[in-house]
Amino acid sequence: MAPNACSQATSGSTALTFFRRMGFLPAHWSTFSMSAVNSSALRLFSREPVDDFPGLLRDRIRAAIAYRERVVQNTDAYRVVFSEGDFLPGLIVDRYNDLLSIQILTQGMDSEAARQTVIPELNELLKPAAIAERVDSRVREIEQLPTRTSSLLQGEKNSTVITMNGVRFHYRALEGQKTGAFLDQRENYAAAAQSARGEALDVFCYQGGFALHLAQRCSNVTGVDSSRPALEIAEKNAALNGREIEWIEANAFDLLRDYAASGRQYDCIVLDPPAFAKSKRNLETAFRGYKELNLRALKMLRPGGLLVTCSCSYHVSPAEFIEVVASAARDVHRDLRLLENRTQAKDHPILLHVPETAYLKCVVATVSY
Ligand code: SAH
Repeated sequence: MAPNACSQATSGSTALTFFRRMGFLPAHWSTFSMSAVNSSALRLFSREPVDDFPGLLRDRIRAAIAYRERVVQNTDAYRVVFSEGDFLPGLIVDRYNDLLSIQILTQGMDSEAARQTVIPELNELLKPAAIAERVDSRVREIEQLPTRTSSLLQGEKNSTVITMNGVRFHYRALEGQKTGAFLDQRENYAAAAQSARGEALDVFCYQGGFALHLAQRCSNVTGVDSSRPALEIAEKNAALNGREIEWIEANAFDLLRDYAASGRQYDCIVLDPPAFAKSKRNLETAFRGYKELNLRALKMLRPGGLLVTCSCSYHVSPAEFIEVVASAARDVHRDLRLLENRTQAKDHPILLHVPETAYLKCVVATVSY
């Protein structure tokens, strides 16, 4: 097996033994990153033997950046490196204007050799004012990586303002969920805004991603989320864009039930809940959750109204999600006309042969008049 700066000798030889036991070796023995502990222990880096692992990392980062130059538009905030989607398993890099945020999720990428290759390369190519590392403690625990805390790896600047589709957002490198913003929805924000009008309700609004885009077209926008800190930033974002939006701190399920029961009506409703199905085991609960939300939203849409309904649960397939939405429509006796069946923004690449890379679903549909 080719020497691999990113693999661990013991787990590497375990994988080799595994292949021998299975009675085959890949035609070209490849370079893998091994984790001794994870269920997806084997991560393919290359189909060819690799002598120069840092060189491979640098090439992959350059290729990832070149791909973004081709597909990313109307934003200074986007995902620069998306792990398996860019053949860099365990590495996520997001650009937020002049700041970079990185996340390291595997033993291989956590090695000093990998860190000392990745960081200088990002500096050279993107020249950020600062680089922050966001730590997902849960993943580090599963991968048996030493504990770390989120921090600035270099530079002192830890906040900035980003612009996507002409809408501005405050960004703080060391706060917020994920690496800070939901960049994967960026193209869906624009699609929603394009078809929206009238009175809009953004359910699970977080820091106002959809709501602020809808405000470009709609007369009235209300955002709902259970997180007060998220709504406080949403309000600052509204001020930054000179918009007036009503923010409601509530449990979305309760609020939709009450609003639907009291006969409230909207021209546009966005549903973007957190992943309900974190594993295959809770799929049934997830389907029930999606069905209930969509059912209530559909009840509240005026004739011709717009439904933008999302699921970021990888375990729910696009076809299953459409079926849940369709069955909600049948239950409330409304016809839904599909405008767009969308997915994650193109800076979160989907590899057709790696289904795990596709996770976001965003259905844009109108109810009949
Ligand atoms: N639409 C947002 C992202 C939503 S992420 C964007 O584009 O930026 C999911 C959001 O759901 C989080 O902000 C979380 O705080 C919120 N949330 C989770 N459970 C909730 C519940 N039961 N009621 C209301 N909000 C909830």
